[in-house]
Amino acid sequence: MTDLLDLDHSQLVELVESLGQPAYRSKQIWRQVYQRGATDPSQMSDLPRDLRERLTAHVESPRQPIELQRSADGSTSKALLQLNDGELIETVLIRSTPRDTVCLSSQAGCAMGCVFCATGLQGLRRQLTVGEIMRQAILARSWARNEGRELTHVVFMGMGEPLANYANVSRSIDRLTDPDGFAMSPRRITVSTVGIPQNIRRLAADHPRVNLAVSLHAPTQGLRRELVPVDGASVDDILDAVREHNRETGGRVTFEYVLLRDVNDSRGHARRLAERLRGLRAHVNLIPLNPSPGVIGERPSRRATLGFQQALQESGVPATIRVEQGRDIAAACGQLRGDRVRILE
Ligand code: SAH
Ligand code: SF4
Repeated sequence: MTDLLDLDHSQLVELVESLGQPAYRSKQIWRQVYQRGATDPSQMSDLPRDLRERLTAHVESPRQPIELQRSADGSTSKALLQLNDGELIETVLIRSTPRDTVCLSSQAGCAMGCVFCATGLQGLRRQLTVGEIMRQAILARSWARNEGRELTHVVFMGMGEPLANYANVSRSIDRLTDPDGFAMSPRRITVSTVGIPQNIRRLAADHPRVNLAVSLHAPTQGLRRELVPVDGASVDDILDAVREHNRETGGRVTFEYVLLRDVNDSRGHARRLAERLRGLRAHVNLIPLNPSPGVIGERPSRRATLGFQQALQESGVPATIRVEQGRDIAAACGQLRGDRVRILE
Protein backbone atom coordinates (compact mmCIF):
# COMPACT_ATOMS: atom_id res chain seq x y z
CA MET A 1 0.00 0.00 0.00
CA THR A 2 1.22 3.48 -0.84
CA ASP A 3 1.22 6.43 1.56
CA LEU A 4 -0.26 9.20 -0.56
CA LEU A 5 1.73 11.78 1.41
CA ASP A 6 5.00 10.07 0.57
CA LEU A 7 4.63 10.70 -3.16
CA ASP A 8 6.27 13.67 -4.81
CA HIS A 9 4.72 15.43 -7.83
CA SER A 10 6.07 13.04 -10.44
CA GLN A 11 5.23 9.91 -8.46
CA LEU A 12 1.69 11.16 -8.03
CA VAL A 13 1.41 11.69 -11.81
CA GLU A 14 2.57 8.09 -12.29
CA LEU A 15 -0.01 6.79 -9.86
CA VAL A 16 -2.82 8.75 -11.47
CA GLU A 17 -1.82 7.57 -14.94
CA SER A 18 -1.57 3.98 -13.77
CA LEU A 19 -5.20 4.33 -12.71
CA GLY A 20 -6.07 5.38 -16.26
CA GLN A 21 -6.58 9.06 -15.44
CA PRO A 22 -5.14 12.22 -17.02
CA ALA A 23 -2.05 13.71 -15.36
CA TYR A 24 -3.82 16.93 -14.34
CA ARG A 25 -5.75 14.96 -11.73
CA SER A 26 -2.50 14.76 -9.76
CA LYS A 27 -2.56 18.55 -9.28
CA GLN A 28 -6.08 18.34 -7.92
CA ILE A 29 -5.06 15.61 -5.50
CA TRP A 30 -1.95 17.55 -4.43
CA ARG A 31 -4.02 20.63 -3.65
CA GLN A 32 -6.61 18.59 -1.82
CA VAL A 33 -3.94 17.07 0.38
CA TYR A 34 -1.68 20.04 1.05
CA GLN A 35 -4.03 22.99 0.77
CA ARG A 36 -7.26 21.54 2.11
CA GLY A 37 -5.77 18.82 4.30
CA ALA A 38 -7.94 16.09 2.76
CA THR A 39 -5.73 13.05 3.28
CA ASP A 40 -8.53 10.55 2.68
CA PRO A 41 -9.42 10.20 -1.05
CA SER A 42 -13.11 9.89 -0.20
CA GLN A 43 -13.03 13.55 0.97
CA MET A 44 -11.68 14.82 -2.38
CA SER A 45 -14.97 16.12 -3.64
CA ASP A 46 -13.69 17.52 -6.95
CA LEU A 47 -12.51 14.11 -8.20
CA PRO A 48 -14.74 11.72 -10.12
CA ARG A 49 -16.21 9.07 -7.88
CA ASP A 50 -14.47 6.13 -9.57
CA LEU A 51 -11.06 7.79 -9.14
CA ARG A 52 -11.79 8.38 -5.48
CA GLU A 53 -12.68 4.71 -5.10
CA ARG A 54 -9.62 3.47 -6.97
CA LEU A 55 -7.37 5.76 -4.97
CA THR A 56 -8.90 4.54 -1.74
CA ALA A 57 -8.13 0.98 -2.77
CA HIS A 58 -4.52 1.94 -3.61
CA VAL A 59 -3.39 4.10 -0.73
CA GLU A 60 -3.10 3.60 2.99
CA SER A 61 -6.07 4.89 4.88
CA PRO A 62 -5.11 7.78 7.16
CA ARG A 63 -4.87 6.92 10.82
CA GLN A 64 -6.38 9.01 13.55
CA PRO A 65 -4.22 10.00 16.53
CA ILE A 66 -4.49 7.38 19.25
CA GLU A 67 -4.47 9.98 22.00
CA LEU A 68 -5.08 13.73 22.16
CA GLN A 69 -4.35 15.94 25.14
CA ARG A 70 -4.83 19.64 25.75
CA SER A 71 -3.13 21.68 28.45
CA ALA A 72 -5.25 23.13 31.24
CA ASP A 73 -4.76 26.67 29.90
CA GLY A 74 -5.89 25.51 26.44
CA SER A 75 -2.77 26.80 24.71
CA THR A 76 -1.11 23.52 23.85
CA SER A 77 -2.35 20.33 22.23
CA LYS A 78 -0.44 17.13 21.83
CA ALA A 79 -1.23 14.12 19.65
CA LEU A 80 0.20 10.66 20.03
CA LEU A 81 0.36 9.11 16.57
CA GLN A 82 0.87 5.48 15.74
CA LEU A 83 2.77 4.79 12.53
CA ASN A 84 2.02 1.86 10.26
CA ASP A 85 4.63 -0.36 11.86
CA GLY A 86 3.42 0.47 15.35
CA GLU A 87 6.04 3.11 16.22
CA LEU A 88 4.74 6.02 18.27
CA ILE A 89 5.54 9.68 17.77
CA GLU A 90 4.19 12.94 19.14
CA THR A 91 3.19 16.24 17.56
CA VAL A 92 2.51 19.45 19.47
CA LEU A 93 0.51 22.53 18.51
CA ILE A 94 1.33 25.67 20.48
CA ARG A 95 -1.18 28.51 20.29
CA SER A 96 0.31 31.84 21.12
CA THR A 97 -1.58 34.60 19.35
CA PRO A 98 -0.74 35.76 16.71
CA ARG A 99 1.38 32.67 16.17
CA ASP A 100 0.25 29.10 15.94
CA THR A 101 3.25 26.82 15.80
CA VAL A 102 3.49 23.11 15.15
CA CYS A 103 6.39 21.21 16.66
CA LEU A 104 7.20 18.31 14.34
CA SER A 105 8.93 15.03 15.06
CA SER A 106 11.51 13.93 12.50
CA GLN A 107 12.49 10.52 13.88
CA ALA A 108 10.97 7.84 16.09
CA GLY A 109 13.37 8.05 19.04
CA CYS A 110 16.79 9.66 18.67
CA ALA A 111 20.35 8.34 18.59
CA MET A 112 22.01 11.32 20.28
CA GLY A 113 21.29 10.33 23.85
CA CYS A 114 21.26 13.82 25.40
CA VAL A 115 21.13 12.95 29.09
CA PHE A 116 18.28 15.34 29.88
CA CYS A 117 15.94 14.40 27.00
CA ALA A 118 13.10 11.89 27.21
CA THR A 119 13.28 11.11 23.49
CA GLY A 120 16.97 10.29 23.79
CA LEU A 121 16.21 7.52 26.30
CA GLN A 122 14.75 5.32 23.59
CA GLY A 123 17.66 5.42 21.20
CA LEU A 124 16.90 5.72 17.50
CA ARG A 125 14.02 3.51 16.41
CA ARG A 126 13.76 4.74 12.85
CA GLN A 127 13.66 7.68 10.45
CA LEU A 128 10.29 9.20 9.62
CA THR A 129 9.22 9.34 5.98
CA VAL A 130 8.25 12.61 4.31
CA GLY A 131 4.63 11.47 4.51
CA GLU A 132 4.87 10.88 8.25
CA ILE A 133 6.34 14.34 8.75
CA MET A 134 3.77 16.05 6.54
CA ARG A 135 0.88 14.23 8.17
CA GLN A 136 1.80 15.91 11.47
CA ALA A 137 1.77 19.36 9.87
CA ILE A 138 -1.57 18.70 8.17
CA LEU A 139 -3.07 17.46 11.42
CA ALA A 140 -1.94 20.48 13.44
CA ARG A 141 -3.15 22.86 10.75
CA SER A 142 -6.57 21.20 10.81
CA TRP A 143 -6.82 21.75 14.57
CA ALA A 144 -5.97 25.40 14.12
CA ARG A 145 -8.40 25.79 11.23
CA ASN A 146 -11.21 24.11 13.13
CA GLU A 147 -10.84 26.90 15.68
CA GLY A 148 -10.84 29.60 13.01
CA ARG A 149 -7.08 30.03 13.32
CA GLU A 150 -4.22 29.36 10.91
CA LEU A 151 -0.96 27.56 11.36
CA THR A 152 1.73 30.22 10.99
CA HIS A 153 5.01 28.57 12.06
CA VAL A 154 6.70 25.18 11.86
CA VAL A 155 9.54 24.08 14.12
CA PHE A 156 11.44 20.81 13.82
CA MET A 157 11.82 20.51 17.59
CA GLY A 158 9.79 17.41 18.36
CA MET A 159 11.15 13.90 18.68
CA GLY A 160 14.39 13.13 16.89
CA GLU A 161 17.32 14.90 15.31
CA PRO A 162 16.15 16.49 12.04
CA LEU A 163 19.60 16.81 10.49
CA ALA A 164 20.15 13.07 11.02
CA ASN A 165 17.16 12.54 8.71
CA TYR A 166 18.32 15.18 6.28
CA ALA A 167 16.79 13.94 3.03
CA ASN A 168 13.25 13.62 4.36
CA VAL A 169 13.38 16.80 6.41
CA SER A 170 14.63 18.68 3.35
CA ARG A 171 11.83 17.24 1.21
CA SER A 172 9.28 18.21 3.87
CA ILE A 173 10.60 21.78 3.82
CA ASP A 174 10.11 21.77 0.03
CA ARG A 175 6.50 20.75 0.52
CA LEU A 176 5.85 23.22 3.30
CA THR A 177 7.11 26.04 1.09
CA ASP A 178 5.61 24.77 -2.21
CA PRO A 179 3.19 27.42 -3.55
CA ASP A 180 0.82 24.58 -4.52
CA GLY A 181 1.35 22.96 -1.14
CA PHE A 182 1.44 24.64 2.27
CA ALA A 183 2.73 27.83 0.65
CA MET A 184 4.54 28.82 3.82
CA SER A 185 7.43 31.26 3.91
CA PRO A 186 10.74 29.57 4.79
CA ARG A 187 11.21 32.38 7.30
CA ARG A 188 8.49 30.75 9.36
CA ILE A 189 10.24 27.40 9.52
CA THR A 190 12.95 26.55 12.07
CA VAL A 191 15.17 23.49 12.15
CA SER A 192 16.62 22.72 15.55
CA THR A 193 19.70 20.51 15.53
CA VAL A 194 22.01 19.04 18.11
CA GLY A 195 24.76 20.25 15.74
CA ILE A 196 25.80 18.08 12.78
CA PRO A 197 28.33 20.29 10.97
CA GLN A 198 28.15 18.88 7.44
CA ASN A 199 24.36 19.01 7.44
CA ILE A 200 24.29 22.55 8.83
CA ARG A 201 26.28 23.43 5.68
CA ARG A 202 23.85 21.51 3.46
CA LEU A 203 20.90 23.26 5.05
CA ALA A 204 22.52 26.65 4.39
CA ALA A 205 22.97 25.72 0.72
CA ASP A 206 19.58 24.04 0.17
CA HIS A 207 17.34 26.17 2.39
CA PRO A 208 19.14 29.45 3.12
CA ARG A 209 16.03 31.23 4.36
CA VAL A 210 15.00 28.57 6.85
CA ASN A 211 15.93 29.49 10.45
CA LEU A 212 18.60 27.45 12.17
CA ALA A 213 18.66 26.70 15.89
CA VAL A 214 21.65 24.85 17.33
CA SER A 215 21.38 23.06 20.67
CA LEU A 216 24.78 23.76 22.21
CA HIS A 217 24.20 23.47 25.99
CA ALA A 218 27.83 23.93 26.96
CA PRO A 219 30.70 26.33 26.31
CA THR A 220 33.39 23.66 26.58
CA GLN A 221 34.01 20.34 24.92
CA GLY A 222 34.24 18.39 28.22
CA LEU A 223 30.86 19.58 29.43
CA ARG A 224 29.24 19.17 26.04
CA ARG A 225 30.45 15.55 25.91
CA GLU A 226 28.81 14.86 29.30
CA LEU A 227 25.48 16.27 28.19
CA VAL A 228 25.43 15.06 24.58
CA PRO A 229 27.40 11.82 24.85
CA VAL A 230 26.77 10.25 21.43
CA ASP A 231 27.34 13.23 19.17
CA GLY A 232 30.72 13.08 17.45
CA ALA A 233 31.12 16.75 16.55
CA SER A 234 33.29 19.08 18.60
CA VAL A 235 32.09 22.50 19.79
CA ASP A 236 34.73 24.04 17.49
CA ASP A 237 33.45 22.19 14.42
CA ILE A 238 29.87 23.13 15.21
CA LEU A 239 30.79 26.80 15.61
CA ASP A 240 32.75 26.73 12.33
CA ALA A 241 29.70 25.38 10.53
CA VAL A 242 27.53 28.07 12.13
CA ARG A 243 30.02 30.74 11.02
CA GLU A 244 29.63 29.48 7.46
CA HIS A 245 25.88 29.43 7.85
CA ASN A 246 26.00 33.07 8.95
CA ARG A 247 28.11 33.92 5.93
CA GLU A 248 26.13 31.91 3.35
CA THR A 249 22.66 32.96 4.44
CA GLY A 250 23.19 36.40 5.92
CA GLY A 251 20.91 35.22 8.71
CA ARG A 252 21.22 34.98 12.46
CA VAL A 253 21.48 31.67 14.30
CA THR A 254 19.78 30.80 17.56
CA PHE A 255 21.69 28.76 20.10
CA GLU A 256 19.54 26.73 22.43
CA TYR A 257 20.99 26.13 25.84
CA VAL A 258 19.18 23.84 28.29
CA LEU A 259 20.03 25.01 31.80
CA LEU A 260 20.67 22.25 34.34
CA ARG A 261 21.02 23.19 37.98
CA ASP A 262 24.65 23.26 39.14
CA VAL A 263 25.84 21.68 35.91
CA ASN A 264 26.00 24.40 33.25
CA ASP A 265 24.07 27.31 34.81
CA SER A 266 26.70 29.54 36.44
CA ARG A 267 27.63 33.07 35.39
CA GLY A 268 31.10 31.70 34.60
CA HIS A 269 29.56 29.30 32.07
CA ALA A 270 27.64 32.21 30.57
CA ARG A 271 30.77 34.33 30.19
CA ARG A 272 32.70 31.46 28.60
CA LEU A 273 29.79 30.85 26.24
CA ALA A 274 29.78 34.52 25.23
CA GLU A 275 33.49 34.29 24.44
CA ARG A 276 32.92 31.28 22.19
CA LEU A 277 30.13 33.06 20.33
CA ARG A 278 32.09 36.24 19.69
CA GLY A 279 31.96 37.28 16.05
CA LEU A 280 28.87 35.21 15.26
CA ARG A 281 25.47 36.68 14.44
CA ALA A 282 23.72 34.79 17.16
CA HIS A 283 21.13 34.86 19.85
CA VAL A 284 20.85 32.49 22.81
CA ASN A 285 17.56 30.96 23.87
CA LEU A 286 17.78 29.61 27.41
CA ILE A 287 15.56 26.64 28.26
CA PRO A 288 15.28 25.84 31.97
CA LEU A 289 15.30 22.04 32.14
CA ASN A 290 11.93 20.33 32.08
CA PRO A 291 11.92 17.30 34.27
CA SER A 292 10.83 14.00 32.81
CA PRO A 293 10.84 10.50 34.33
CA GLY A 294 14.11 8.70 33.82
CA VAL A 295 16.17 11.63 32.62
CA ILE A 296 19.04 13.31 34.39
CA GLY A 297 19.13 16.85 35.70
CA GLU A 298 17.26 19.35 37.82
CA ARG A 299 15.61 22.59 36.90
CA PRO A 300 17.79 25.62 37.70
CA SER A 301 16.60 28.27 40.13
CA ARG A 302 14.89 31.32 38.67
CA ARG A 303 17.74 33.37 40.06
CA ALA A 304 20.39 31.32 38.26
CA THR A 305 18.42 31.51 35.02
CA LEU A 306 18.13 35.28 35.19
CA GLY A 307 21.78 35.61 36.25
CA PHE A 308 22.86 33.52 33.25
CA GLN A 309 20.83 35.67 30.90
CA GLN A 310 22.21 38.85 32.41
CA ALA A 311 25.83 37.65 32.18
CA LEU A 312 25.35 36.85 28.49
CA GLN A 313 23.80 40.21 27.81
CA GLU A 314 26.55 42.03 29.69
CA SER A 315 29.00 40.23 27.41
CA GLY A 316 27.14 41.48 24.35
CA VAL A 317 25.17 38.33 23.47
CA PRO A 318 21.40 38.76 23.14
CA ALA A 319 19.60 36.16 25.25
CA THR A 320 16.00 35.23 25.94
CA ILE A 321 14.40 32.71 28.25
CA ARG A 322 12.02 30.35 26.52
CA VAL A 323 8.44 30.76 27.59
CA GLU A 324 7.16 27.26 27.78
CA GLN A 325 3.71 25.89 27.38
CA GLY A 326 2.26 22.46 27.81
CA ARG A 327 4.32 21.13 30.72
CA ASP A 328 1.16 19.75 32.33
CA ILE A 329 0.63 17.39 29.39
CA ALA A 330 4.34 16.63 28.96
CA ALA A 331 4.38 18.51 25.67
CA ALA A 332 7.24 20.88 26.48
CA CYS A 333 10.80 20.60 25.19
CA GLY A 334 12.44 17.32 26.03
CA GLN A 335 9.30 15.69 27.39
CA LEU A 336 8.20 13.88 24.23
CA ARG A 337 8.67 10.19 24.64
CA GLY A 338 6.03 8.69 22.41
CA ASP A 339 4.31 6.53 24.96
CA ARG A 340 1.50 6.75 27.41
CA VAL A 341 3.58 7.48 30.49
CA ARG A 342 2.17 10.57 32.15
CA ILE A 343 3.87 13.05 34.36
CA LEU A 344 1.79 13.51 37.46
CA GLU A 345 2.49 16.85 39.09
N1 SAH B 1 17.14 17.06 18.25
C1 SAH B 1 16.96 18.45 18.07
C2 SAH B 1 15.52 18.89 18.11
C3 SAH B 1 14.62 18.29 19.13
S1 SAH B 1 14.90 18.71 20.80
C4 SAH B 1 17.79 19.22 19.09
O1 SAH B 1 18.31 18.62 20.02
O2 SAH B 1 17.93 20.44 18.91
C5 SAH B 1 14.34 20.41 20.89
C6 SAH B 1 14.97 21.20 22.03
O3 SAH B 1 14.53 20.71 23.29
C7 SAH B 1 16.49 21.10 22.03
O4 SAH B 1 17.08 22.36 22.20
C8 SAH B 1 16.73 20.25 23.24
O5 SAH B 1 18.00 20.46 23.79
C9 SAH B 1 15.63 20.68 24.17
N2 SAH B 1 15.42 19.75 25.28
C10 SAH B 1 15.62 18.41 25.29
N3 SAH B 1 15.33 17.90 26.51
C11 SAH B 1 14.95 18.94 27.28
C12 SAH B 1 14.50 19.05 28.63
N4 SAH B 1 14.38 17.99 29.42
N5 SAH B 1 14.18 20.28 29.09
C13 SAH B 1 14.25 21.37 28.28
N6 SAH B 1 14.65 21.31 27.00
C14 SAH B 1 14.99 20.12 26.50
FE1 SF4 C 1 17.87 13.86 20.30
FE2 SF4 C 1 17.46 16.51 20.47
FE3 SF4 C 1 16.68 14.85 22.45
FE4 SF4 C 1 19.26 15.29 22.06
S1 SF4 C 1 17.73 16.81 22.69
S2 SF4 C 1 18.31 13.27 22.42
S3 SF4 C 1 19.35 15.46 19.86
S4 SF4 C 1 15.90 14.88 20.40
